[in-house]
Amino acid sequence: MEVNNKWLCYNEEQKNLAYEFCEGYKDFLSNSKTERESIKNAIALAEANGFRNINDLIKNNEKLNPGDKVYAINMNKAIVLFVIGEEAFEKGLNIVGAHIDSPRLDLKCNPIYENSGFCLLDTHYYGGIKKYQWVTTPLALHGIVCKKDGTKIDFVIGENEDDPVFAITDLLPHLDKDKQNRKEVIEGEELDLIVGNIPDKDEKENPIAKNIMNLLNELGIEEDDFLSAEIEVVPSGRARDFGLDRSMILGYGHDDRSCAYSSLKAILGVKNPKRTAVCLLVDKEEIGSVGATGMKSKFFENMVAEVMNLFEGYQELKFKRCLNHSCMISSDVTAGYDPVWPAPMNKKTEAFLSRGISFNKFTGHRGKSEANDANPEFIARLRKICEDNKILFQFNEMGKVDAGGGGTIAYILAEYGMEVIDAGIPLLSMHAPWEVASKLDIYESYRFYDVFLNSFE
Ligand code: MN
Ligand code: MN
Repeated sequence: MEVNNKWLCYNEEQKNLAYEFCEGYKDFLSNSKTERESIKNAIALAEANGFRNINDLIKNNEKLNPGDKVYAINMNKAIVLFVIGEEAFEKGLNIVGAHIDSPRLDLKCNPIYENSGFCLLDTHYYGGIKKYQWVTTPLALHGIVCKKDGTKIDFVIGENEDDPVFAITDLLPHLDKDKQNRKEVIEGEELDLIVGNIPDKDEKENPIAKNIMNLLNELGIEEDDFLSAEIEVVPSGRARDFGLDRSMILGYGHDDRSCAYSSLKAILGVKNPKRTAVCLLVDKEEIGSVGATGMKSKFFENMVAEVMNLFEGYQELKFKRCLNHSCMISSDVTAGYDPVWPAPMNKKTEAFLSRGISFNKFTGHRGKSEANDANPEFIARLRKICEDNKILFQFNEMGKVDAGGGGTIAYILAEYGMEVIDAGIPLLSMHAPWEVASKLDIYESYRFYDVFLNSFE
């Protein structure tokens, strides 16, 4: 038995609470396969829990008071939620932040073509993927098409039992001798999915593609509309219990919707905090946190200014103090020790599934490059919070020294001078179409984000 596995720390009731929490998570994960779907579902949960859209308050010239709950949306791809505290903003905020984008394939802007009797869709992958993992697995299309007349068509094809699915094919092993010697078994331009095989009877040139376009026309989509569309190709199917003991969950997008969901659930439960509590869910982490909806955009800063203005009036110096005095948990996943793939991992310092929320003092690569390196003064406070609340936790780094590395949004918030640390859920098969997480870690992360958001020092 793995000595540090924490399942035996739970009594039957605690185990049931963790399993119950994860039922909600599996639903959220199964219905939130794109950033837009994640935000839509986050808004629904927020409104059901008394959060109001900040635009309504601004429009009606309403003031915010301690205990009030507001949220703001950025381009339907990021959200920030606040529960107003008793203290002045210059005392700082308690922030948990996660990302809601996940590695996937995106359709190109002119994706549809015909070859040898098939209609195919051309993709460009998003985020770090091992391309061979995305072939011969059922895929679904989740997207939005924006028409010139201003209408938007949202659609999902490939998730319902009676929906068709799509796939990227691969060679049979009998004829694959040459390809096996290639450096990349599957290359980016080979990630094209087959979507049809019946010709249109009147079309001469590309009859199969024409027939597929006819079917898309029924949804209101014309070929030119792909120019103003975001269509994501994701694994088809729901998140499911994993293991005979049901201790884990197999799902698409645990990175980072497992931390996003547990962070969101934590802020939904915050009532009358001393410090204002904030949950931030952002896009584009997987491609460097860039763009208008990524962590590097000014959205977060601007919304803190708006909320401060509605609460106590905006003042630049106090606003700067507010960010400077804030504390942040960058809630993102980390690598879990994989018994089948031990080579790049250091067993002494690796995160393990079912040992609780995993704190990473630093991420980065090669001598901690580009890492936020959390301060021990801050870590000591968090250790106390964990111990006082009996939260199961572990401290880790990702992989052996010089084995590789990774980043999160932590260093971006740290630029304001606030205390930041990474703490989240260890995964197996990170960035694969189906990732694995432990129910215990998901639940303990939620419990930690909850007590952190309510903490005051
Ligand atoms: Mn991540
Ligand atoms: Mn990632």
